[in-house]
Amino acid sequence: MLRRVIATNPFIGLTTFVSAMMTSSSFSTIALAARSSNNSSPTSPPPCVYSLSTDGQAASTETTKTRPPPETPQSYKLLNKEVLSHDSYRLIFGIPTPSTLGVDATIPTCIKVTMPANTIVDGYNDNQILTNEPKSKSYSPISHPNTLNQFELVVKSYPYRLGGGVATYINSLTEGQSLQASVKSPRMVHDSPIMLDRWNHVGLIAGGTGIAPLLQLTRLFLQDSDTTKVSLLYMNKAKEDVLLKNDLDDLVGKYEGRFQVVYSLTQEEEKEGYEYGRGSLEMVQKALPSPSLDGVMIFICGTDGFVSYWGGPVGRAPSSGGKKGKKIQGPLLGLLQTAGYNETQVFKY
Ligand SMILES: Cc1cc2nc3c(=O)[nH]c(=O)nc-3n(C[C@H](O)[C@H](O)[C@H](O)COP(=O)(O)OP(=O)(O)OC[C@H]3O[C@@H](n4cnc5c(N)ncnc54)[C@H](O)[C@@H]3O)c2cc1C
Repeated sequence: MLRRVIATNPFIGLTTFVSAMMTSSSFSTIALAARSSNNSSPTSPPPCVYSLSTDGQAASTETTKTRPPPETPQSYKLLNKEVLSHDSYRLIFGIPTPSTLGVDATIPTCIKVTMPANTIVDGYNDNQILTNEPKSKSYSPISHPNTLNQFELVVKSYPYRLGGGVATYINSLTEGQSLQASVKSPRMVHDSPIMLDRWNHVGLIAGGTGIAPLLQLTRLFLQDSDTTKVSLLYMNKAKEDVLLKNDLDDLVGKYEGRFQVVYSLTQEEEKEGYEYGRGSLEMVQKALPSPSLDGVMIFICGTDGFVSYWGGPVGRAPSSGGKKGKKIQGPLLGLLQTAGYNETQVFKY
């Protein structure tokens, strides 16, 4: 069956090795075969060879000398901007060197965007400074990690708060302007960054813009596997807050039988095509794979309160130097625990 013991998957050792190497300062050149997509789009790169260079850089052979390692800031130019809702935009950024965003096209990407100190967004909150010092926030592209030369973000702006405002800053950029961002090291999901060939049926619970990392995962599971099923439960306050519905409905049509979406609104009742409410055992049964099935994994992403409601709070490891500590999964609580899932079947972003 699809679900394999991790140690037998040739990619596990490979990618774990890659991510270990990315934190190391020097190592020798090693050739790695990158996995190709079954369903290549025009922007998908051809299968290519990745190499690890002596200065800690991991890159395809085409770009070995030019792609910076993870966590290194570089400039990305805004190529296209589209209004998605009253407070959100879809933004396409170019990658300066011809390549994908991450070093492994089968592993989800995330970037840390830095807003410079003393940024003022024209007209926003009477032209007040958004932050006195550089401020960073992480965003997950909604594009497949194998997308060549560009990546796509969805960003929602929030009301003014001193020290906040990264999203407002990003959304204020105009086409042709650039921002500074760094690619983050791959996220470990229960001790491995590997996503493919690991589960038979994946459930995704998204609250608002929590859809961003989960849409990227959806694309990965649907395009790069022939069998993994994906069930998304997407919660928003009102119909006007639902982002990317056309993209999601297109995927439902394209991957009929493998991808389903249940939408729920928490502040609007009786809308056709939408459930109502924050979530219940009945909704879990309707929208997500049963915990009794073999090879089930549930991912949750939304506000802290949202994640807590579904799976219990995410903890933080002790931090140093004013930085936030690493996220800790903590015990499984909330509605998913009541519904019978166990800790190994749930990942909280
Ligand atoms: C890994 C990661 C990647 C991210 N990437 C992006 C990104 O690319 N772009 C971006 O803009 N943001 C991103 N975020 C930010 C994050 O998704 C948002 O801060 C968060 O989801 C808030 O979204 P919202 O304001 O749309 O939610 P809201 O509209 O406030 O809430 C969404 C839904 O959740 C429900 N809800 C809220 N709180 C609770 C609760 N306590 N209990 C039950 N239900 C609740 C609401 O009723 C509503 O239906 C990312 C976060 C993480 C962890």
